[in-house]
Amino acid sequence: MDEYQIKRGKRRLKQIFSGLAFIILLSVGWHYPLLGFFIPLCMLFGIGMAFWRGRKWCDWFCPRGSFYDAFTTPLSSKAGIPTLFKNMYFRVSVLTALLAVMAFNLGLRWPDMNKIGLFFIIMLTATIVLGVILALIFHPRSWCSFCPIGTLANLSGKGRHTLKIDSESCVECKLCAKACPIGIKPYLYKKTGIQPMTDKDCLKCGLCVAVCPKKALAF
Ligand code: SF4
Ligand code: SF4
Repeated sequence: MDEYQIKRGKRRLKQIFSGLAFIILLSVGWHYPLLGFFIPLCMLFGIGMAFWRGRKWCDWFCPRGSFYDAFTTPLSSKAGIPTLFKNMYFRVSVLTALLAVMAFNLGLRWPDMNKIGLFFIIMLTATIVLGVILALIFHPRSWCSFCPIGTLANLSGKGRHTLKIDSESCVECKLCAKACPIGIKPYLYKKTGIQPMTDKDCLKCGLCVAVCPKKALAF
């Protein structure tokens, strides 16, 4: 087994565990709404980690992202993530709309913690249904392209733990793009010498680093 297969296998195991925990929490949350507070906790962890490692949270720590990778990948058309989903105006609009819905509902339900927890469960269920539909039609990580936590991590994680490409070593075999779980094409960043891969949606998963036959990629 080569380095790439080992890395991919370990990541998959972590994602299965994280994804299953997600399904269990979501199911039990309908009966114990206080569990819904794991959602704002995830938001805090995701954004906090961004100041240190960019979107590393979205790799396998995020239960939702793990669920998409682990359980929708075999069923997805893998047609690719629509350009619109990566557009920052679209992403900020989604973020603003979701924050507005959240603020309105918190105000409406305050100070009943059970009602607030149930709101988080309802919101999570609705968005997971949308995410699964998008995963099947387009790409497993379609939702992650405009997820509010991902957008905030993108904006706050600029330049953290950046992937670099050695332009002289790269032979443009494109294996890195095939391995990338969020549709990034690292080889497009080659120019001269060592170049930073400036896409802020990189999950820092390291799959492209492991798969590159020329060792042209590194963090
Ligand atoms: S896998 Fe390595 S050699 Fe192949 S295109 Fe990507 S960076 Fe270049
Ligand atoms: S560019 Fe490389 S490290 Fe970043 S998400 Fe894609 S495969 Fe992972």
